[in-house]
Amino acid sequence: MMHNRLHTPLSVLSLLLCVAVAFMFTRSQRSHDRLGFFIGQGGYTMHSQQGKLVLTGPPAGASAAPEAEKLVAQMTNDDLRWMEILEVRNGTASFVDVKALPVEGSVASTISKLPEGPDALKRPLLRALDDPGKFVAAHVLLTHYVQRRWRAPADKKQECVRVAFNGLDVELRPEGAQRDYRGLENNSHWMCFEHQVAGSWWADPAQRKRIRDQWHDRLDVRLVSIPYWLVLAVCLFPPFRWCYIGWRRVQRKKRGLCSECGYDLRATRDRCPECGSLSST
Ligand SMILES: [Zn+2]
Repeated sequence: MMHNRLHTPLSVLSLLLCVAVAFMFTRSQRSHDRLGFFIGQGGYTMHSQQGKLVLTGPPAGASAAPEAEKLVAQMTNDDLRWMEILEVRNGTASFVDVKALPVEGSVASTISKLPEGPDALKRPLLRALDDPGKFVAAHVLLTHYVQRRWRAPADKKQECVRVAFNGLDVELRPEGAQRDYRGLENNSHWMCFEHQVAGSWWADPAQRKRIRDQWHDRLDVRLVSIPYWLVLAVCLFPPFRWCYIGWRRVQRKKRGLCSECGYDLRATRDRCPECGSLSST
């Protein structure tokens, strides 16, 4: 029968799906997997964690703001400058502070002055995290708008300064850095180096996924949550039905009934008068 011929591959597919779901369920107990995708202008993420599938979407209040969208589209990582501020005592740097700021006159500095407010920026900035050429600037601006922070304490190791800026590791290099200001206070003095030109600072692009996840986890809204057991139940339904139909057919044959519709065939052995199916099948 056409119906049954379709049914078998469907059941096999469902069984394979069940195995995959069972694997993902086990995996979700110890790790958090994410799959990001876009629908229109919004970035969505499917999470697999703690025995559940969770769909999250753009943050509440992050409505479309054409001006913010346009500015973020023009923004690049080069719109940033990093200020290295050192307190030097007896010839050694005893305290290092790093400040990330938009370059004056850049798109990023214009974004800082947008009257639309931080909520309008969340959606375009979240999307900019997917672009390797924008993600550092997007991370710095989000850090400013969400955590109200431009600064982070840093380590000075020989010539390079390493800073973990809200989870993003950035290396400030001496090449191309400009000494900006030097002040004197008693025995110690402050020095400031500005890293703006290409090559004077570096953030590993491999960190982009982690930074993207950090912000989506923090700002996205939970839309749907489905436990894996429910997915498994849905996937198990076709194979169960298939087994039941097979079992019922055997039972009907044994009792001299049509295997398809259950009509009594004791009088008409060759063909079922009710549904027309041949009794040999
Ligand atoms: Zn029949």
